[in-house]
Amino acid sequence: MNGKTAVITGASRGIGKAIAIELASKGANVVIGYLNNEEEAYRTFDLIKDSGGRHSCVKVDVTNKDDVKFLVAHAEDCSILINNAGITNDKSFRKMDESAWHNVLEVNLTGAYNTISAFLPLMLELGYGRIVNISSVIGQTGGFGQTNYAASKAALIGFTKSLALEVAKNNVMVNCVCPGFIATEMVQAIPEPILNKIIDKIPVKRLGKVEEVAQLVRFLVTEGDYITGQQFNVNGGLYM
Ligand code: NDP
Repeated sequence: MNGKTAVITGASRGIGKAIAIELASKGANVVIGYLNNEEEAYRTFDLIKDSGGRHSCVKVDVTNKDDVKFLVAHAEDCSILINNAGITNDKSFRKMDESAWHNVLEVNLTGAYNTISAFLPLMLELGYGRIVNISSVIGQTGGFGQTNYAASKAALIGFTKSLALEVAKNNVMVNCVCPGFIATEMVQAIPEPILNKIIDKIPVKRLGKVEEVAQLVRFLVTEGDYITGQQFNVNGGLYM
């Protein structure tokens, strides 16, 4: 990956942070996107700063087009885009107000639309691009109290497959990774009794590790020259 620039949204914490570390370790120049946690973003930066690449942190709200424009100006040689930024706002559908619906769709789905719209022209010009959208097992199975989140993540899969068809001939590969339940703050927010029930249903009987997702993402961007339009599950056998 020497010399290639990878933008990772939501890389201050959790899965995005692990992807930043993994790609930097393989020689990429990494742009660490963050929203509120500047300190955490610079902690990620500190962990990769000696890997030899040109790394940086950029505050970017993926729902804000001006932020995304700034990101493109900052990373104008970006050929690898990891759409990882995501949020939940769980409520049963009957209790879900419009803002909880729109907010989750805006970040998880339109956020990816915004970044892809902004970076795709560069990739087409280069004749090379690797896009990985982080979806979720919940986009495949649905989740109680997660109509908004499941809709956003399922839509991301359809978006990925359609875009992949359109840009494959330009050597731009577009794939989805669908993590199961991974030990991050997002999952730690689930009440313990419910989380224990979830773990009991996972065939490997544990939460996934952020590194296990990051390794698959790295494989797709370094070895995935003939892989596009696919969804890959990292979920301990939870869903086949
Ligand atoms: P975390 O909640 O740990 O981190 C979320 C990241 O997204 C943070 O870096 C946060 O930035 C950033 N973020 C939030 N809103 C925005 C926004 N509007 N614009 C830009 N960045 C934003 O999440 P995880 O690491 O757990 O999840 C990462 C991705 O993986 C998400 O898309 C999630 O849906 C998906 N996923 C996670 C699973 C899990 O089990 N953890 C399972 C399946 C999918 P900051 O901290 O700076 O505010």
